[in-house]
Amino acid sequence: MTQEPPFQVQIVPVTPFQQNCSIIRAANGDAAVIDPGGEVDRIEEAAKAMDATIKKIWLTHGHLDHASGAMELKRRTGAPIEGAHEEEVFWLSQIAEQSKRFGIGNEGENVVPDRWLDDGDTVEIGGVVFDVYFTPGHTPGHVIFHQKDARLAFVGDVLFKGSIGRTDFPRGDHATLIRSITEKLWPLGNDTRFVPGHGPLSTFGEERRSNAFVADHVLAGG
Ligand SMILES: [Zn+2]
Ligand SMILES: [Zn+2]
Repeated sequence: MTQEPPFQVQIVPVTPFQQNCSIIRAANGDAAVIDPGGEVDRIEEAAKAMDATIKKIWLTHGHLDHASGAMELKRRTGAPIEGAHEEEVFWLSQIAEQSKRFGIGNEGENVVPDRWLDDGDTVEIGGVVFDVYFTPGHTPGHVIFHQKDARLAFVGDVLFKGSIGRTDFPRGDHATLIRSITEKLWPLGNDTRFVPGHGPLSTFGEERRSNAFVADHVLAGG
C-alpha cells in the first residue's frame, strides 16, 4: 500500500538565478522553507496560499541565491535558521558583498544561523523528520535534507538533472563533490526523488543512468 507523505511541497523559484526555494508544509500546517534566496514577499504569499505557518528556515549552503532572504524571513516569522554546516560561514558572511558584485540589488544580507548542521543530525517540522548529510564540494559547508519515508531529498547545488554543482568557486573541490554524490546521495536509493537548487526534479537512479558527469558508466571510465 502506498501512503501519501504527511507533508506537501511547493517550489517557488526565486531570484534571477531561478533558485528552487521549497516550502514544506506538514499536516498540522507548520512549514519549513528551504533556501529562501530572496523575494521574501513571494515566499510568504505562497506559504499563505498553502495555509502554512513558517516555523523553520533550512539552508543547504550560503550562496546568495539560496540564503539572501533568510534573515529577512526570520525577522518576519521568528523562525530559526538551521544549516548549513559550520564551514559555510565562509559564504554566509559574504552574501552582502556578493549581492552587490552580481548586481541583484541590496537585498542580500549576511546570515548568522541559529544552528549549524552536520552528518547524522536531523531537522523536524510538524513531526516530519529529515536526515541531514554533509555534502561538501560545491561549497565547503553544503548539506542536504532527506525525508526517508517519502524518499525525497533536497540537494541544493550538489546535483542537478543532467549536471552537477560548479566547483570553480573559491573553496570548491571537484573530487570532494563527486565523493559527496557517490558516498552520501547514491546510498539513499535509486528511487529517491530529489529537488535540486535549480531546474527540474529527477531521481538518483535516473542520474546514475544518464548524468554526463556522475553516471555509473562515466565514473567507471567507460
Ligand atoms: Zn550554489
Ligand atoms: Zn544555486
